[in-house]
Amino acid sequence: MPSRGVYLGRIAGVEVFAQLSTLVIAGLLTWSFASGLLPASVPDRLPVVYWSVAIVGALLFLASLLGHELSHSVVARHNGVEVEGITLWLFGGVASLKGHAPGPGAEFRIAVAGPVASLVIAAVSAAGSAVVYLFDGPQAWVVMLGYLAVLNGFLAVFNLLPGAPLDGGRILGSILWKLRGDRASGMAGAAKAGTVVAGLIVAGGFAGDVVHGLLWRVVDGPHRRVPVQRCPRRGRLLRRGAGLERRSRIHGDGTSGAGDQHLVDSRRRSARPLRHEQSGRPCRSSTRLIRSVGCSQWIRFGRLRPNRG
Ligand SMILES: [Zn+2]
Repeated sequence: MPSRGVYLGRIAGVEVFAQLSTLVIAGLLTWSFASGLLPASVPDRLPVVYWSVAIVGALLFLASLLGHELSHSVVARHNGVEVEGITLWLFGGVASLKGHAPGPGAEFRIAVAGPVASLVIAAVSAAGSAVVYLFDGPQAWVVMLGYLAVLNGFLAVFNLLPGAPLDGGRILGSILWKLRGDRASGMAGAAKAGTVVAGLIVAGGFAGDVVHGLLWRVVDGPHRRVPVQRCPRRGRLLRRGAGLERRSRIHGDGTSGAGDQHLVDSRRRSARPLRHEQSGRPCRSSTRLIRSVGCSQWIRFGRLRPNRG
C-alpha cells in the first residue's frame, strides 16, 4: 500500500493524492507514445505534434486510472464503507477503504465498479477515436484515443481475472461469501484463487511468447509481404535482381550451357535477398504498413512490433 504523497484535491467527496513516482509513469508513457506509438502509426509529423499528443494522452491515461479507483470509492461510500482516499503511484492507483463491506452484495458492487468504469472509459475513447477519424481530424488523435481504448479495455479484463488482490478476486470472494455465508471463508477462497491466477499468468506469459512466435511465422506471412513490397530497400534489391536476370537471359539466349548456368546463378543471387527479406526483418519503413491499414491501425500496432527493424 503506497503512502499518500501530494494532495491533489477532492473529487466526488473523495480525497485524491499522488506520489512523486506517478511522474515516472507519466514520463514513461509520454516517452513511449511520442517516440514509439505515434511516429510508427502516423509518420512524417513534427516532433511537437507527437510530444503534445503524447503528454495529453499520458495525462488522460492517468485520469482513466483515477476514474477506475474513483468508481470503486464512490460505490463504496454509497454502500456505507468509509473511503480514506485514492493514491496514484508507480503501479497505478489504489483506493483505500476503511473497514469491510457490510455484506457480500456490497462487496460485489464495490469490486465490480472499477472494471465497469474502465470499460466505459474504453468505449468512450473508442467512440472518440472513431469520431475524430470520421471527421478527418488529426490522425495522431485517432491513434492516441484508440490506444487509450485498448489500454482501458485491457485494464478492465485484467482486473476481472478471478484471483485476489485483483477486482475479479474480490468479486469471487463476494460470491463465495454469499454461498458459504462467511466472509473470511470467501476471502480465503479468493486468495487461493489468486495464487492459481498468478501462476497461470506467469505460465501463460511464457506459453504466450512461444505461441506468438509460432503464430508470427505461420499466420503473419501475408501481412509481411505488404511492407516488403513497399520497402525502398527491397525495391532496390528487386530491381538489382531483375537486372541480373535480364543480363543472364541475354547471355543465355542461345544453346550455351554456360549461359543457362549464368541464369541459374543470377536467380540464386536475386532470390537470396528475397528470402532474407521475407523471413527476417523485412523493412526499416515497416511503419508504412501501419499507415496502409487505415482506421484499425492502432489495433494492429501491437502485432507489428516484432517486424520493426
Ligand atoms: Zn479496481
